[in-house]
Amino acid sequence: MGKIIIFLGPPGAGKGTQAQFLNKDYGFIQISTGDILREAVKKGTELGKLAKKYMDEGKLVPDDVIVGIIKEKLEELGDANIILDGFPRTIPQAQALDKMLQEKGKEVDAVILFDISDEEVIKRLSGRRVDPKTGKVYHIEFNPPPKGVEVIQRDDDKEEVIRKRLEVYHQQTEPLVEYYKSQNKLYVVDASKPVEEVYKEIKNVLKL
Ligand code: ADP
Ligand code: AMP
Repeated sequence: MGKIIIFLGPPGAGKGTQAQFLNKDYGFIQISTGDILREAVKKGTELGKLAKKYMDEGKLVPDDVIVGIIKEKLEELGDANIILDGFPRTIPQAQALDKMLQEKGKEVDAVILFDISDEEVIKRLSGRRVDPKTGKVYHIEFNPPPKGVEVIQRDDDKEEVIRKRLEVYHQQTEPLVEYYKSQNKLYVVDASKPVEEVYKEIKNVLKL
């Protein structure tokens, strides 16, 4: 049966970077609610218009909206191996996910917590750049884009918004650590290490 893996951790911890590796090497499908919302904002859909207000301020988009998106995605993906990147972010989202999976006779297989300091996250987010054509993530210092690749900075990777997003993480998302610990599903990786070392730790946890 397809595995459901959650990547939990603050913005900028390296979740998207590692999900791209697992996609390339093992075919895991990455569901990033942030990517889905940014796509909707770009297209100017109703969802995009609603989400933009929250995203620009570093706040969370309302749970019912996000849960609706995930429900649709999970239906569409059937029995694939899935990485949930940036979801759930609140206790109600986690409860909704458990219920959704339960109805299909499934459950979350493992939750990987990306452990990293706020200070390190600020360095990573302020240097993050994205290739808008491929969605590939770079860092001006730690993983510079190849020559000729045009990159942009995300609107919410500005200092004031970064601080707000971190505050929101500690208040609303961090309680999920206890939630999944009590289900015996939580595995912690040291996300402050270089990309390859973090990847090794994740593969160990997932027995890949
Ligand atoms: P998240 O998806 O958790 O928000 P990203 O994967 O986008 O985080 O990574 C944030 C930034 O940090 C990016 O610029 C990325 O290139 C860089 N990065 C990711 N992992 C590492 C690492 N282990 N060491 C140094 N920089 C990293
Ligand atoms: P991310 O790309 O994961 O850093 O998400 C960017 C922004 O999208 C967040 O700051 C939120 O505004 C919104 N967002 C993404 N995922 C969620 C979620 N699961 N719940 C609520 N808001 C979300």
